[in-house]
Amino acid sequence: MSLRRATGLELHRTGFGIFALHEVRSERGVLVTLGRREHKRAAEVVEAGGAAALHEEAGRTLWWTSDGLYWDDEGLDAEAVALLAWDRRRRQDARIERLRKVRAADEAVEVARRQRIPDDVRIFVWQRDDGRCVRCGSEDDLQFDHVIPVARGGGNAPENVQVLCGPCNRQKSDHIA
Ligand SMILES: [Zn+2]
Repeated sequence: MSLRRATGLELHRTGFGIFALHEVRSERGVLVTLGRREHKRAAEVVEAGGAAALHEEAGRTLWWTSDGLYWDDEGLDAEAVALLAWDRRRRQDARIERLRKVRAADEAVEVARRQRIPDDVRIFVWQRDDGRCVRCGSEDDLQFDHVIPVARGGGNAPENVQVLCGPCNRQKSDHIA
């Protein structure tokens, strides 16, 4: 790809009002200085989704796009630069969205793993609670419940596990939420 992100360069504003200047700076100093009107024209192009050429040196052009500053060394025109920058942003957004989903799935698996109550604890709690809901005594629709939810730091020790019926468990969840 002939369009490369111009790393280490930033747009800065100096001065105020009609004396304002905009500069493209690198660590080594000022690379380009834009007058107020020049900056305004370029900003309008970028605002409209286009690309504005700010500077040329040694066969390459510095472009300003809505996705930041880029160097081009193949003599691309403004439309091509804007499209390539847009495509790069679009792909990056899609990639971030994919990663977000992967991480969410990963976290869901981890929560499920932490919520899984070991068999020996289940047997112990079942016997301790006499095989019935500790709130209403029902023997139907029974579930193991974390007294303090795993998401809030509760663990799988017997003291934090109890037998509840479905209705009591839902009532408890509503109460917590
Ligand atoms: Zn109950």
